[in-house]
Amino acid sequence: MKFCSSCGHPVEQRVPAGDNRPRYVCPSCETIHYQNPRIVAGTVPVWEGQILLCRRAIEPRYGYWTLPAGFMENSETTEEAATRETLEEAEATVSLEGLYTIIHVPHIDQVHMFYRAQLIDGRYGAGEESLETQLFNPADIPWERISFPTVRRTLEHFIEDLPRQEYPMRISDIRYKLKPGA
Ligand code: ZN
Repeated sequence: MKFCSSCGHPVEQRVPAGDNRPRYVCPSCETIHYQNPRIVAGTVPVWEGQILLCRRAIEPRYGYWTLPAGFMENSETTEEAATRETLEEAEATVSLEGLYTIIHVPHIDQVHMFYRAQLIDGRYGAGEESLETQLFNPADIPWERISFPTVRRTLEHFIEDLPRQEYPMRISDIRYKLKPGA
């Protein structure tokens, strides 16, 4: 951040009184611009034992397969965000079956949350951000063309849990591995 979004004055970085870490502070209007992690919400949409994936029509990872997911909007719940993203990207109406994965991605300041979901009527399509959508048998997941680590990990958990039909919630982290000396 370079300029104050309230008054346009250049901001500076300092630790505000009573705080313990540097923030962007506007020396003109005194606004403190807090920056906090963003939540990405999505689903694992299932229809008759198959998993619905979307092939991305946008960068990053254009052409790679993903679960429908995206940034939560203000005034939404995570359930609403996950359901909306599934409708937008996969043109599928789903009923949620519970929170499944929470994956912290601290190096990009994001938290990804995926719900298990069932397609309500089996219909799906390609939304504006998708080249195509397709139902995959668990054995046919295109692992070499999966978009993001959080999607891969969620799919791995799901396929591991499928035989028992028990889906405990999984909470984990994905971190960049620092090179030695870095
Ligand atoms: Zn200002």
